[in-house]
Amino acid sequence: MTLRGRLTAAFLAVVLGPVLLGAFFVGATMAAVDDSRATERLGLAAAGVRTSVDALCQQLRAAADAVALVTDPAARHRAADQVVGRGLAAAVLTIDSAGTTNYATPGGPARPWQECSSDPPATGPVRALAAEVQLRDPAGADLGTVTAAQSVDPAFVARLAAVTGVAVTLLDDPAGTDPVTLTTETREVRAAVLAAARTVDGDRVTETVDGRYVRRVGPSPGQPLPLVLSVPAERPPGLHVALVGAVVLAALLAVLAAWRLARVTTRPLMELAGAVDRVAHGDLTARVPVRSRDEIGRLAGAFNRMTRETGSYVAALTSSRDQLRGHLAVLGDTLASTHDLQRILRVILHSAIAATGARAGAVLLLDGDGVLVGQCVEGLDGRRPGDDGSDPATLRVPAGTGVVGTVAATGEPLCGRWEPADPPTGEPTCETYIAVPFAAPGAAELAGRGDPDRPGHPPADDDATPAASGALGVLALYDRLGAEEFADDDLVTLRTFAAHAAVAVENVRVHEETQRLSLTDPLTGLWNYRYLRESIRREVERANRFGRMLSVLALDLDRFKDVNDTWGHAAGDAVLVEFARRVRGEIREVDLAFRQGGEEFVVLLPETDARGATIVAERLGAVVRDQPVPVDGHGGEPVRVAVTVSIGIAVYPDHAAGGQQVLDAADDALYAAKAAGRDGYRLAQPPDPPPTREIPVVVATVSPPDGLPRAGTPDTSGGGQGGASSGPHPPRQSRGR
Ligand code: GH3
Ligand code: MG
Ligand code: MG
Repeated sequence: MTLRGRLTAAFLAVVLGPVLLGAFFVGATMAAVDDSRATERLGLAAAGVRTSVDALCQQLRAAADAVALVTDPAARHRAADQVVGRGLAAAVLTIDSAGTTNYATPGGPARPWQECSSDPPATGPVRALAAEVQLRDPAGADLGTVTAAQSVDPAFVARLAAVTGVAVTLLDDPAGTDPVTLTTETREVRAAVLAAARTVDGDRVTETVDGRYVRRVGPSPGQPLPLVLSVPAERPPGLHVALVGAVVLAALLAVLAAWRLARVTTRPLMELAGAVDRVAHGDLTARVPVRSRDEIGRLAGAFNRMTRETGSYVAALTSSRDQLRGHLAVLGDTLASTHDLQRILRVILHSAIAATGARAGAVLLLDGDGVLVGQCVEGLDGRRPGDDGSDPATLRVPAGTGVVGTVAATGEPLCGRWEPADPPTGEPTCETYIAVPFAAPGAAELAGRGDPDRPGHPPADDDATPAASGALGVLALYDRLGAEEFADDDLVTLRTFAAHAAVAVENVRVHEETQRLSLTDPLTGLWNYRYLRESIRREVERANRFGRMLSVLALDLDRFKDVNDTWGHAAGDAVLVEFARRVRGEIREVDLAFRQGGEEFVVLLPETDARGATIVAERLGAVVRDQPVPVDGHGGEPVRVAVTVSIGIAVYPDHAAGGQQVLDAADDALYAAKAAGRDGYRLAQPPDPPPTREIPVVVATVSPPDGLPRAGTPDTSGGGQGGASSGPHPPRQSRGR
């Protein structure tokens, strides 16, 4: 059964119950009132009837007495006639003591007569009422009786009815068909009254089917006539019909009202159910009309509010998810495609700021001195005195001081509200902050300091240092939007980004280290041959671009095999390491030194012409020659090994047209230097056709006193510029290349 059906039924029950009850009550009350009034009227009428009949009997008795007083029989008969003539009786009868009728007035009522005083009254039909008195002579002898009678006819009954005000009927009316009662009564009514009267006795009152109250009077002592009294019911005719009609009307109205009420009540509920169904299917735009201010109206309003709130919440979530997706995509791309640490850290910082809703932030990395140095910052302008926020490196916080310093030292995140520090730590000022450390993956576990259950609570150990915490740096965010403090889920988010930062830093470091290892010589730490090839190409390009010169020195230790043979391979290595150190010490920052292999080295001198290159070669020769290299001799005792080096010089673009060619030219010049007796340098020969530019450098095997090569210096080794080029070049393969 639907709610509407139930409501209708309930309403009907509530309305119709009282209506039915009321109708029943009204009907019953009116019937009872009517009943008692009719009983009362009939009682009064019965008394009236008795009085009337009694009076008639008295009158008849008086008439009979008057006749009986006359002693003369003839006069007595005249007296009887006079009594009848005056209307005091309908008939007078004198009977002698023998029972013979002496005289009867003519035209008397038909028999049988009912004697007034007979007790009990005779049964059967009655035609007249009679009173009998004794007839006596003056001596008192019984002479017979005198009887006076009056007819009991319709007129008599009508008189009784008129006196009592109720309908009167003679019960045992032998005529049967005579209209003996009130003129308003029809034959059917009379029949019904008589039928009802026969079912009762005594003083009881009964009711006929057509609504008349009926009671019997007599026969009884003093009232010998069997009479029936009846009155019509006084309640308005058709009362029951009216009551039933009213009930039916009320029922119809109740049904209508119930239907309407149920509809009004259930309609908003149906609408609400429909809207809820739509929401259940994901349609958050569903709304229900608010039609009233009652409970259902409030429910509808609350539902609309709920869906509106949920809708905006879902929209916010969706947009933040999309945003996060975007950030993740950028982050992923950045991490995957670049080793540009600054760029990666910038993206990480930006994503972390967007994800947590902070206003500003910074990524700091620990430098070698235990100072946190800003790598990238966002929104820090004006947060530190004298800083416009453009150069992140101005943000410097020593580990162990301030918020970020503490985080780096303990390896535990911190978040909370800023309390102005005294003295200032160099950190930006803010309202709220959150800072998480990031360590090389696995570093925290190795350091044994991770305490993920108690974020924000640094361990109490005294030895809190960046090294102990394994921290590489700190990711810090400032001033959450809405001025609330950063929450635990921000911490979780930030830890994720910090982990990304750690991986990125570590990756870049590993990458740089790998790069370095792949390009350096492990023994001497100089650049290796691989990097030489790359560098020569780059430097030639640069020289071309800026119209500068590039000088190349090829160096080879003299008779190095002897060092190995005499002092052992380890001593040879030591000599190589020391040689490399001295070379590095003699060249500028922009110059590059390479170990080609074995005891052969190359030095690139950007933006240097042949003159400058010979000066360097000179210095290098001197720094090797002047100080014998201390090594461990046989049995471990220190010995000093004298070493010299031969150097070939070639200049781009003077001596060659490309990178490899200039290397080859320098090699050739080196060979010339070796051939010239070693411990000296040679300048390469200009190629064919010779360069238009003269190179004002004269090459010597040993330096002149002022350290500068001079034109015309005698070539003692028979080499020199002319000599070096005049001799036949040995095949390149013979030099092991
Ligand atoms: P020169 O160049 O003056 O003609 O004589 P050299 O003895 O230096 O000539 P050579 O090129 O024949 O010998 C090079 C020697 O350098 C051969 C090898 O024993 C030694 N050598 C090469 N690489 C290393 C190295 O890495 N460590 C050590 N200890 N010796 C090396
Ligand atoms: Mg060699
Ligand atoms: Mg050598």
